[in-house]
Amino acid sequence: MIETIGVIGAGQMGGGIAQVSAQAGLTVHLLDVSDDLLAKARAGLGKQLDRQIRKGRIGEDDKGRILGRVHTGTDYAVFGGCDLVVEAATENEDVKRAIFKQLTPYLGERTLVATNTSSISITRLAAITDRPERFIGMHFMNPVPVMKLVEIIRGIATSDETYAAVRDLAERLGKTTAVSEDFPAFIVNRILLPMINEAVYTLYEGVGSVTAIDTAMKLGANHPMGPLELADFIGLDTCLSIMNVLYDGLADSKYRPCPLLVKYVEAGWLGRKVGRGFYDYSGETPVPTR
Ligand code: NAD
Repeated sequence: MIETIGVIGAGQMGGGIAQVSAQAGLTVHLLDVSDDLLAKARAGLGKQLDRQIRKGRIGEDDKGRILGRVHTGTDYAVFGGCDLVVEAATENEDVKRAIFKQLTPYLGERTLVATNTSSISITRLAAITDRPERFIGMHFMNPVPVMKLVEIIRGIATSDETYAAVRDLAERLGKTTAVSEDFPAFIVNRILLPMINEAVYTLYEGVGSVTAIDTAMKLGANHPMGPLELADFIGLDTCLSIMNVLYDGLADSKYRPCPLLVKYVEAGWLGRKVGRGFYDYSGETPVPTR
């Protein structure tokens, strides 16, 4: 059974994976590139737990226990003692390739490796390690503590034992799983991201304003968030990476990323995580940026 988990990347997803794992009683080793980012992640985790205390979901003393299970650092040596290491770093294949290359020599013989990638080939990432049969896609949704789904993607070599262990863990974390074959962007983002990209085209071509597009889809299609609000929430860099993976991997022009999405990313307007994207988040309520 998986009891100790390593998480690489302490951003919105890695922080969430660390939180749900620690809340389920697992020991967590969370790694990022700097102590600053790790301190930020730990502070974020504390805030999330405070919110749960206010809602009466956990007690004051649970907070200390949960935080005590999360160890942070920048040294890969801790991963030798993990049952599973989940990679949740930036959605960029070069970044992930470098991480798996660095990670492999530190892994224990039986350690399983998962990636939280939104779109990149599991089979290709697995081939960088020495254990494609113990490598799998474990795609959590954002925000991890709230969203019920974990999409599981088996690479061509992933063993039945690896799949069973990861599915069991997802269930212990209170999640429901759906299995996807290993094709670009899997199921959720194969369907979701072209819709978001089309919403950006709708803005780019002047069909509607940010407010009109989001209001239309919230009230007209009963979506809990408008597509531009959702894009900001996911991160526009992540959205662009996923569109590029779809475009390159399926070689179909219908997946071309909207030039306006590219422009926002080039400007560093990456959405909610940096305070500005299709909306400006610096005030009390988000204000459309165009
Ligand atoms: P993020 O930008 O919030 O966090 C990425 C983190 O990775 C940052 O803290 C960064 O410092 C760290 N990082 C970068 N290079 C690293 C390295 N070499 N070693 C260790 N850490 C490194 O991004 P995110 O939204 O948390 O996304 C992370 C992964 O999760 C991506 O693969 C993304 O596709 C996937 N994902 C994202 C969402 C979403 O809605 N944002 C949903 C599901 C899956």
